[in-house]
Amino acid sequence: MATYIPPIRSANPYLPFGDQRTAPFYGKDILSVKQFGRPDLEYIFGVAHEMREMVSRVGTFDLLKGKILVNLFYEPSTRTSSSFTSAMERLGGSVIPINEVRYSSVSKGESLPDTVRTLECYADVIVLRHPEVGASALAAQYARKPIINAGDGVGEHPTQALLDLFTIREELGEVEGLTVTMLGDLKYGRTVHSLARLLSMFNVRLHYVSPAILRMPPEILEEIRQKGIQQTEHETLAEVLPQTDVLYITRVQKERFTDLDEYDSVKSAYIITPDIMAAAKEKMIVMHPLPRVGEISMDFDADPRAAYFRQMEYGLYVRMALLAMVLGKA
Ligand code: ASP
Repeated sequence: MATYIPPIRSANPYLPFGDQRTAPFYGKDILSVKQFGRPDLEYIFGVAHEMREMVSRVGTFDLLKGKILVNLFYEPSTRTSSSFTSAMERLGGSVIPINEVRYSSVSKGESLPDTVRTLECYADVIVLRHPEVGASALAAQYARKPIINAGDGVGEHPTQALLDLFTIREELGEVEGLTVTMLGDLKYGRTVHSLARLLSMFNVRLHYVSPAILRMPPEILEEIRQKGIQQTEHETLAEVLPQTDVLYITRVQKERFTDLDEYDSVKSAYIITPDIMAAAKEKMIVMHPLPRVGEISMDFDADPRAAYFRQMEYGLYVRMALLAMVLGKA
């Protein structure tokens, strides 16, 4: 007679049948937004939504108890590093912070592959920010544990783009049909490189407003054109502000300029004030990955359309979701 063997139940509410190896994204690297399709986004945002509810209900819970994250930052960060720390700790895990590589063996000349091979001996996941494009992909070639790209030079910032898209959805209800205007340093701003790519999976209209020397890189324009998305480039915001649903502002990235006179010539090209925003819709949002260094006047902060502080909080839920996913718990 056959014996009935009941399925193994997990203590984890997100995994009814317990085998974490079947969870999507388990053990995967997060290197570029190009790796995601629409169903992945739905899944990530669904988990992020649950994280938001759990944080408001219980604050901290033990989904990742015993797991360890390394925050390995070769470039400055406030929001990305502290939101990953908060995300890990709210999920019951812990963090090794290496925010000052100056004080690690990197300053003795250790290579990135050796540094990640070292740190993965002590941790389950590595969050990496590095000044060189492709650094996370390189690290991932050597690491056995998941690498999460937290910004690779002027390349990509995929977790920021995911939280940006989550913000748009939570604030405006949906992404389809929106007009998104990106403003500022579109050449060096990695957040807009990732966000434009992610948005091109939806039926949106994209406007790019920048000084001539800071235009969106041609290869990204071409990639997005091939998806059939309408894109236009401008030097003045007034041309597109009235029809904009999402105004995404970026800082001019001083650290990427070799010629500081060139930086000085464009650093104050656009400053958002309540007066300028009088021409915008009543129902729209203003976003910024932050830090801002003068692109948005503080007088605008109290306007309900100013979503940039709320955007940071959405980042916590998205990063909690991503950690739970790559560690097989969602
Ligand atoms: N915090 C964002 C980044 O790391 C934006 C910025 O630095 O301006 O790319």
